[in-house]
Amino acid sequence: MAEREYDIVIIGGGPAGLAAGLYAARGMHRTVLLEKGVVGGQISLTELVENYPGVPTVNGFDLAQTMLKQSESYGMETEYVDVTGVERAGQKWRVRTGAGDFIGKAVIVTAGAEYNRLGVPGEERLTGKGVSYCATCDAAFFRDMEAAVIGGGDAAMDEGLFTTRYVSKATVIHRRDELRASRILQERAFANEKMSFLWNTVVEEVLGDEQVTGVKLRNVVTGETSEMPLSAVFIFIGQHPNSGFLDGLVEMDAGKHAIVDEWMRTKQPGLFAAGDVRQNSARQVASSVGDGVTAAIAADHYITDTFRE
Ligand SMILES: Cc1cc2nc3c(=O)[nH]c(=O)nc-3n(C[C@H](O)[C@H](O)[C@H](O)COP(=O)(O)OP(=O)(O)OC[C@H]3O[C@@H](n4cnc5c(N)ncnc54)[C@H](O)[C@@H]3O)c2cc1C
Repeated sequence: MAEREYDIVIIGGGPAGLAAGLYAARGMHRTVLLEKGVVGGQISLTELVENYPGVPTVNGFDLAQTMLKQSESYGMETEYVDVTGVERAGQKWRVRTGAGDFIGKAVIVTAGAEYNRLGVPGEERLTGKGVSYCATCDAAFFRDMEAAVIGGGDAAMDEGLFTTRYVSKATVIHRRDELRASRILQERAFANEKMSFLWNTVVEEVLGDEQVTGVKLRNVVTGETSEMPLSAVFIFIGQHPNSGFLDGLVEMDAGKHAIVDEWMRTKQPGLFAAGDVRQNSARQVASSVGDGVTAAIAADHYITDTFRE
């Protein structure tokens, strides 16, 4: 299959990739963005974004489409392909896809991450309608309502505590009889009067038609089932970055996030990683956009220095 040559190849069309594409293309680099699904990434699943500075309230899909149009207006090309590998091609990089290879002087990986799902009926259908994987993003929509927080690790406690700024009650539902979270977070959670705990319990179904109205529960010890009425379900049972195609190529942390420096550089010259796929991302649209911009500027410097004629 034919290979196509670009200055900058961007892998992943979420906020980080779209922002990188804008800066790369506007910087007069021949730029292609490769996306395997829907442009916008995680944000395309979100009904309302209220915390992107300068845009008071916007539908996630619409925000992503506006970003895409802006980047394409400066010449960024978009290809809908699944990236399967990245490897060196002399001084450049080869990005492998099912639709042929893309060669780039620099590659910016913005493949993002996916939240682990419970995999129960109602969860997918009600995502963005009461089911959430991000309290920082969505807790404010549930002021004075009751919510469930699923999980027992640091993220569940940290985000669960955040929900109590808004909700009237947050019930932590955990499949074991103790938390995995650090002691300090456990102490804060136990001391918070809005938080209560339901042990040895799993969610079997998220209930509701247009919006979440409750959850169906099962006690894993007694087998007893019950229903709990509530308006929101915040799920924190882990997250996995889409970094499999970088295995063995870049340094990663234990959770498989790419390790980068403050310019989003991996240790491989010309290979950058930005947004939720990188270690220590703040996991927000605004921070991912900032990462993408940083990576594009760093890639521009790298190309200028390395490929000077
Ligand atoms: C339901 C939900 C609601 C949220 N609400 C908010 C909010 O209100 N405010 C906020 O600031 N943040 C919110 N977030 C978080 C925010 O969406 C993420 O932090 C942000 O989208 C991360 O951007 P990203 O570009 O790094 O990655 P992503 O958005 O994950 O995008 C990565 C893209 O890469 C593509 N990709 C992955 N692998 C490949 C491959 N092999 N080949 C080609 N393409 C690939 C994916 O299909 C995806 O489109 C929310 C997240 C979720 C899940």
